[in-house]
Amino acid sequence: MYLPDFDYYVPASVAEACQLLAENIDCAKVISGGTDLLPKMKHGLLSPQILVSIKKIPGLRKIEYVQGKGVVIGAASTINDIVFSEVVQQKYPSVSNAAHTMAANQVRHSGTVGGNLVSAVPSADMPPILMALNATATIEGPNGQRQLPVEDVFCGPSKCLLEKSEIITEIIIPDQAMTGSTYFKFALRRAGALAVVGVAAAVQVENETIKDARVALGAVAPVPMRAKKTEEFLIGKKISDELLEEAGKIAAAECKPITDFRASEEYRRDLVRIYTKRALCKAIDQGHV
Ligand SMILES: Cc1cc2nc3c(=O)[nH]c(=O)nc-3n(C[C@H](O)[C@H](O)[C@H](O)COP(=O)(O)OP(=O)(O)OC[C@H]3O[C@@H](n4cnc5c(N)ncnc54)[C@H](O)[C@@H]3O)c2cc1C
Repeated sequence: MYLPDFDYYVPASVAEACQLLAENIDCAKVISGGTDLLPKMKHGLLSPQILVSIKKIPGLRKIEYVQGKGVVIGAASTINDIVFSEVVQQKYPSVSNAAHTMAANQVRHSGTVGGNLVSAVPSADMPPILMALNATATIEGPNGQRQLPVEDVFCGPSKCLLEKSEIITEIIIPDQAMTGSTYFKFALRRAGALAVVGVAAAVQVENETIKDARVALGAVAPVPMRAKKTEEFLIGKKISDELLEEAGKIAAAECKPITDFRASEEYRRDLVRIYTKRALCKAIDQGHV
């Protein structure tokens, strides 16, 4: 398993990177950490003639809080950057914890959040928690910049809505009224395994009532999905064990899992039922501070 030959470019700016991609539209690909792309190239699944590395572009590897905007995560920030970021740990510990569930330390050290989104794998760990927190992706291309909610980035397994000449430059988690959030992952091993089911929940709790709720599911549909029926059911209701039990059942009914070598459809639905309840419980507990 050797890598095929390719030319390697290290542009100094996003504009230069987009121009390189536009000029070589059918034979160039962005490379960030390479943890998804290089194995695919080694297996002969992809053979781009040009790789455009974005890792050295100034500003793409940063994590900061911007007043009035939220937590801004450069797309080339590694998963470990997110795990250890004081800003993320302070503002959204659930995001740091979700990042920590991903892969092993070696992969987290190279793999990036932008790559995790663009790979568009249904079981990816970052999308559910980012979707639950209403995050947006900033996308730049030859025609300028646009914002897309993270949940709208994906359009099918391993497919996303980026043009070939576009780059995700940052992910923004906006300031919000949510009082708690969490991500639960079930995998077949404790470390280094893909999610069989991933559930993220964010809630706004006021007077023992759920004022707002967002629930996002991974590995149970062709793309990471919002559990909108579950959210609608929860909003405005008094918190009780029965409520959370029922929310789990609704999430299990509205997800669209498949049977594969990791788990059957039925098993995944049951995991969604249990993990949705657990995720909501934990997110709600944070709201009682
Ligand atoms: C052993 C192993 C275990 C893994 N375990 C997990 C796991 O538990 N959970 C999980 O979610 N993932 C896992 N992964 C997948 C992978 O590590 C992650 O998806 C990682 O975040 C990808 O980021 P990257 O920077 O390495 O992407 P790359 O490999 O560099 O790129 C992936 C794709 O995204 C494109 N791309 C990258 N960045 C951008 C950008 N900013 N803008 C536009 N396009 C871009 C590339 O062109 C390519 O198509 C695992 C991988 C390995 C090898």
